[in-house]
Parts: sequence; structure tokens; C-alpha cells
Amino acid sequence: MTAVKIDGTAVAADVRSAVATAVSTLPDQPCLAVVLVGEDPASEVYVRNKVKMTQAAGMVSIHHRLPATASQGEVERLIESLNADADVDGILLQLPLPKGLDADAAIEKIHPDKDVDGLTEVSAGRLSLGKPGLRPCTPAGSVILAKRALGEDLSGKHVVVIGRSILVGKPAALLFLAENCTVTIAHSRTADLANVCRSADILVPAVGLPEMVRGDWLKPGAAIIDVGINRVPAPEKGEGKTKLVGDAHFESCAEVAGFITPVPGGVGPMTIACLLRNTVLAACARRGWAVPEGL
Ligand code: NAP
Repeated sequence: MTAVKIDGTAVAADVRSAVATAVSTLPDQPCLAVVLVGEDPASEVYVRNKVKMTQAAGMVSIHHRLPATASQGEVERLIESLNADADVDGILLQLPLPKGLDADAAIEKIHPDKDVDGLTEVSAGRLSLGKPGLRPCTPAGSVILAKRALGEDLSGKHVVVIGRSILVGKPAALLFLAENCTVTIAHSRTADLANVCRSADILVPAVGLPEMVRGDWLKPGAAIIDVGINRVPAPEKGEGKTKLVGDAHFESCAEVAGFITPVPGGVGPMTIACLLRNTVLAACARRGWAVPEGL
């Protein structure tokens, strides 16, 4: 392996520590409200981690739970009550919602100034217009990791984002554009994807296809920020065992790339760290506090 591994777990810990330091200088504690509907086991784990890390950063965490049988109206009324609650700075609706509920409509109920996931139409519009606003967490974490590898100034770098989802691909492309990168968005209809990837200084696969990107798709020295998280069988670990892999084939890519994020331990941990950062930014904007240095 020649590439330098970008340790997302360590960078996320740095971001959380900067958030905790920032919180300690604020006049009051920011508050994040998490809404969980139903009993999806993976969502339960995510929510538990969010609550724990919010408190560890010195912030107030409120956790609202609705049963899987909750109606669209009940979910939306809860969100509206959190919008109206002056003590709440950020609202996170844990996805996916149980079958039968309309996640897009529920997300749209979140007040944009409390939209710490950056998923409302207003937040997307602000990002696209280059106006201040809350940015989606996973894409924001991807930019931070690229800067850790290549330095603060990414201007002029050619970034290829593979994927154009609302959650990851599109906002990642816009965030790298805001860093003065030259951005190409590739997707399932892109012709000769391997060749497009070979022109990238920074490659951001966000597809959901295990180990799709191979080492011979890369420009030597490129930085790979692998957003993909895929669970695949791992018979070598025992019968019925599984493991997580990214959208990039780590071993072959690490022979050619200059920098690479592992999966797990790369982009994944950045998501919660950026959520905590967004909660502080939302609190500062709402309450008229100056954003603490270092955030
Ligand atoms: P998504 O909504 O399914 O979007 C996937 C994108 O990949 C689409 O734009 C699709 O193109 C494109 N695509 C599919 N097949 C392709 C192919 N053969 N070649 C090129 N592009 C192809 O997924 P997502 O929500 O963006 O998530 C992407 C990955 O990131 C998943 O593995 C997910 O688990 C992971 N993820 C990680 C985090 C984290 O915290 N690290 C957070 C969110 C997501 P079309 O638009 O043409 O269909």
C-alpha cells in the first residue's frame, strides 16, 4: 500500500472536540432534538450514538419517540411543536421513516434555521445559491477529510463525485465547487466512468456498489474520499458473517492513490461530528451569538 490512510475516526474526534470547546464558550447550551419514528434497530443505534455524542459535547439532547403506527399528521405536528420551541436549536428526523409515511413532506416541515441535516428545500437552495445555511453532514464531512489530506486550499483540484443523490452526491459536488474545485458529477448513465475517474485529483464515490472503483481507475496520487457503506458476506470470518466495504476496492486503490479513506472509519464517523457542528452553528445563528473560533 502506498496511499496514506485518512483516519476519519480521528478527524471526527477532532471536530467533536472543537465543537465541545466552542460550546463551553457560549452563553448557553445549544439543544438538538432527535425524532425517531418506529423501531428500526439500525436507527435505534444511530439515535443512541447521536444522543450520547450531543451530551458529550456539552449540549442538550432531547429525544422524541413515536410508534411505527404514528400518522403523517402526528409526525408533522411533533416537528411543528419543535419548530415553535424556543429552546430547540436543531431538529433531526431519523430516516428511514416506517412504510406509509412521507419522509420528504415531513422533512419540509422542519424550519430551515433548525435543519441541522441540511435536507430541506430551503437549505438545498441556500447551498446552491452560495448563501449561508446549514449544509448536509456527510458531504460536509467529505470536504473536511479532503482538506485534511490535501490542505485547506482545494482550489483548482478536479473533483469527480460518483452519484447524484439529494443526500450525498449533489450537495458534495456543490460543496467542492464552493471550495473552487472543478467538479464533475458522474452517475449511472455516465459513459466510460473509469476514464472519467482517471482525471480526478479527488474522487468521491457515493454510489452504494461494493468495491466498484478499482485501482486502475485512478490517477496516481489521487485522494479517494469513499462515501459508500456496503455490507457484504465475509465467509473468511466464519459462516454467515458479514463486513462493511466502501465503493472503492481498498487494496487495489491504495496501491495507486495518494490518500484514501477506509470503510469503516472514514467518512462514516464524520456525519455525526458535522451534525454536532451544525447544531452549534444553528444555535449561534438563531440566538445572535458570534460563531466561536475554530469551528
Ligand atoms: P442513492 O440515493 O442510491 O444514489 C446512488 C447514486 O449512485 C445515484 O445517483 C446513481 O445514479 C449512482 N449510481 C448507481 N449505479 C451507478 C453506477 N453503476 N455507476 C455510476 N453511478 C451509479 O445513494 P446515496 O444515498 O447517495 O448513498 C450512496 C452511498 O453512500 C451508499 O453506500 C450509502 O450507504 C452511503 N452513505 C454513507 C453515509 C455516511 O455517513 N458515510 C451517509 C449517506 C450515505 P443515478 O442517479 O443515475 O441512478
